[in-house]
Amino acid sequence: MANGETVEVECLSCALVDGLIEPEGGVVVETAHFHAHQDVAYPIPGLIILASKRHLKSLDELTEAERLDYITILSEIRKAQRDVLGIESVYYFYNEDTTHHFHTWIVPRYEWMYELGRSVESVRPVLLHARNEMNDEANLKSVRQAISALTEELKR
Ligand SMILES: [Zn+2]
Repeated sequence: MANGETVEVECLSCALVDGLIEPEGGVVVETAHFHAHQDVAYPIPGLIILASKRHLKSLDELTEAERLDYITILSEIRKAQRDVLGIESVYYFYNEDTTHHFHTWIVPRYEWMYELGRSVESVRPVLLHARNEMNDEANLKSVRQAISALTEELKR
C-alpha cells in the first residue's frame, strides 16, 4: 500500500469494493453495481479501473441490471475523460483469468505512448514506463488532479 502497510486479501477487487482498502485518491464514482478508481500502480492521469461490486469473473455472469449499469457508467466515465481531461482515445482491457474479480481498465492514450510502440503492442511498455519512470511529484500531482476532476464531473 502507499502508506507502507501490507494488506493480504483474497480478492483485491472485493477488498476495494468493500472498503477494506481505500484506493489512493478515493472512489471516483460508485453505482448500484459498480465501483471506479484510479489505478495508482501506474501513474497515468485518467487511468481508471471499473470493477463490479459482486464477485464474479466473466461478462456473461452479469445480470441484466448489472449489464445496463456497466455500459452506462463505462460510457459516463469515458465522456468525463474526454470532457475534463481532453482524452481523445482510450483502450479498454478486461481479462477473465485474473486473481481479482470482474474489472475493466480504461487506459487513456497520450502522445508519449506512441513512441513506445503501436496499438496494443505498446501497452505493456507504456505501463512499465509509467510505473518505473513517472513516479515523480509533478506527474503524481497531475494524476491526483485528474482523479479530482473526474470525481467532480461524475458526481450524481
Ligand atoms: Zn472479488
